[in-house]
Amino acid sequence: MIIAVASGKGGTGKTTVAVNLALSVGKTNLIDCDVEEPNVPALLSVEGALPESVYLPTPVVDQEKCTLCGKCAEFCQFNAILVGKTKTIVYPEICHSCGGCMLVCPENAIHEENREVGVIYTSKLDNLTITYGELTIGEPMATPIIGAVKTKIVADELNILDSPPGTACPVIETIHGSDYVILVTEPTPFGLHDLSMAVDVVRELGIPHGVIINRAGIGDESVKDYCIAKNIPLLLEIPFDRNIAELYSNGIPFVREMPEYREQFKDLLREIEEAL
Ligand code: SF4
Ligand code: SF4
Repeated sequence: MIIAVASGKGGTGKTTVAVNLALSVGKTNLIDCDVEEPNVPALLSVEGALPESVYLPTPVVDQEKCTLCGKCAEFCQFNAILVGKTKTIVYPEICHSCGGCMLVCPENAIHEENREVGVIYTSKLDNLTITYGELTIGEPMATPIIGAVKTKIVADELNILDSPPGTACPVIETIHGSDYVILVTEPTPFGLHDLSMAVDVVRELGIPHGVIINRAGIGDESVKDYCIAKNIPLLLEIPFDRNIAELYSNGIPFVREMPEYREQFKDLLREIEEAL
């Protein structure tokens, strides 16, 4: 089973939920898909993780063979090739590695070379296999690294994906193929606004979903009213609690010190399993 933990915006406690859920339910593959700012390794103090480079095939032009005909640039939907007056230039950072320019070149002047775009890491901790990735600084596309960490999903095991924040491409890449999405929000008007955008995305993708309210007690009832109106299960409320906040600020997942929450996360997992 694949459960993605997402939220419409950052700072809602999404990683806290993913990590505490994983620690509560036993053997789990915990995969941090926020490759621009992975927080799972920090929250679990992961050490000694094994690195694996992620490469993308990128076109390289043989200027000796190139006749400057322009067919490659005409083909490229991403404007990643410029045919100038004296040479043809590839812009690797905006290339999507589709290989099309190589196919259309009449002179066979283009070949591909691998370019490192990031690194993924794998580590073991108690019952968890933890995977996270880091996008190389300056690279604009997170999706290839997200695709790479998702190769560590094990089909017949429990996989929990910590999604990047927001509702853009990296989130779609993360939650695509998930069996269930847990949406984490805060009970405030801002939380409701971002939650409603995230709900639109998961409904568009047709993925079953439920809501966890984090810092319950700080705002109003609008998120609960919204969930009732939209028929979205409210899976759990995590109170705005000084102990939880202090543990978080000390880098300690709260189920380690507050074991009563382990049972609540186990119940939540059972509820999800029954819903599928
Ligand atoms: S591989 Fe695809 S995206 Fe990259 S430069 Fe060629 S046509 Fe453009
Ligand atoms: S298609 Fe080939 S020959 Fe034509 S401009 Fe591009 S690289 Fe040069």
